Amino acid sequence: MIYPHQIPLTERKALSWRLLFLDAVNNFGLALPRGSNAYSVLTSFLNEQIKVEVAMDREQRLNEQAEGKPAGPLRPLDNSLKSAIDNFRATPAFALVSASKPVLPMVNAITTSVNALCCQTCGSAAAICEGLATMKDNGIVSDKGDCIAQLRQMFDMAREAARTYYAAYAATFPVNLDPDIVLSTRHTNSMLAGNHHLANFYASGMTEFVDTAVQPKAEAQLNLLMDDKAVEFMLDLNTYKGILYIMFHECIAHAFQGLLPNFQGRQPTRPYDMFAEGFMDQVAFEVLREVLEKTGLANTSGLKRQIHFPDSLKVTERIRLSRNDCDVNDVATDKAELARGVLAAETILKLIRSAYTSNDFGRPEDFWQGYYRLAFGLNLRRDIDWRKKRDFVLLLYKYHVVSAQPLPSRDRSEEMFLLEIERIVTNYLRTDDIDLLMLEIQNLK
Ligand SMILES: [Zn+2]
Repeated sequence: MIYPHQIPLTERKALSWRLLFLDAVNNFGLALPRGSNAYSVLTSFLNEQIKVEVAMDREQRLNEQAEGKPAGPLRPLDNSLKSAIDNFRATPAFALVSASKPVLPMVNAITTSVNALCCQTCGSAAAICEGLATMKDNGIVSDKGDCIAQLRQMFDMAREAARTYYAAYAATFPVNLDPDIVLSTRHTNSMLAGNHHLANFYASGMTEFVDTAVQPKAEAQLNLLMDDKAVEFMLDLNTYKGILYIMFHECIAHAFQGLLPNFQGRQPTRPYDMFAEGFMDQVAFEVLREVLEKTGLANTSGLKRQIHFPDSLKVTERIRLSRNDCDVNDVATDKAELARGVLAAETILKLIRSAYTSNDFGRPEDFWQGYYRLAFGLNLRRDIDWRKKRDFVLLLYKYHVVSAQPLPSRDRSEEMFLLEIERIVTNYLRTDDIDLLMLEIQNLK
């Protein structure tokens, strides 16, 4: 069994520490002003302690190399984190910050979480992460990975939602649509352009297809920015909360991509593909919203909301705004492609909603069914290539622009265009024929 790549043990110590800290900040954060002295003393002294542990690992490796010795096991993660919190509690800084009322319960919460970490129960008595055999460590983190439980929970929630939504809305599609979806974690010094790096956001996602001959498989890769010299993950509270959205984007927009008519030979789409990165990103957002608000299928299917930040949606909207922040008409920018994709998805939702109101496709409130079915249907179809999907997006975008003009300024051909798009969408909902829809779009182009 080949396990997905995971952040190596030494760096994972720094990450795990950071996750426990952010968890505590999230739980206690409101009581602790971010700019306060106690807060900055706390963060910098906590950071110092984990740096000591990471430095010990790195020194061990350097010494082994210098002495020509084979690499030995590194100290287990739980030991390192326990020693970091014990050392912190012994510093004069701790005495100083614990005098500040909100800090003590927060440090106590971190201490409790650190003490609850146990590499023996996460791995096994015979095998825990030692920083020696990469595959072994990757396997332990992939199978359980208590040290990155917060990331895993967000991933699990997104994967579960993707499976539930595709199973419900793509149920009658003629093939088994259950790809394996696995989480991979990576750390990096700099974000690649293709990863949609955003200002003041320190994580990004990407999906790689690792299909076998008999089983479709998608690896959702979470990339975290780390200052390697300072041994510090840049992860802040905003980025931490935004990881949930990244996971939904990867699982809804990408993991199921191109599985029809069969999954063999499916390829990832381009980084700024209008349909995959814009249109489907909006669809992923709608699913995330339903899950967080417990509405729609997320409610009726009893989908669990394992993790929830009160401001999850606000954080997500902020990230998406900066992702698409551009002049939407500026064809020269990649971002405009994403923005037009998002607008197209919003437009088709409106069109489907109004078609459900004026036709007899089912209860008017069931329009979501038509929306998801169309989006998933297109996303799954590899034989409808990206150009055809782009044409579909562009015509919907044009519909959005034309229909936003006040009536008197529209000419007759524009009126005809609006009516024709409405007819095509209604016809699709009546026939459920996605090929006919694409054909009619091509004819209209
Ligand atoms: Zn993407």
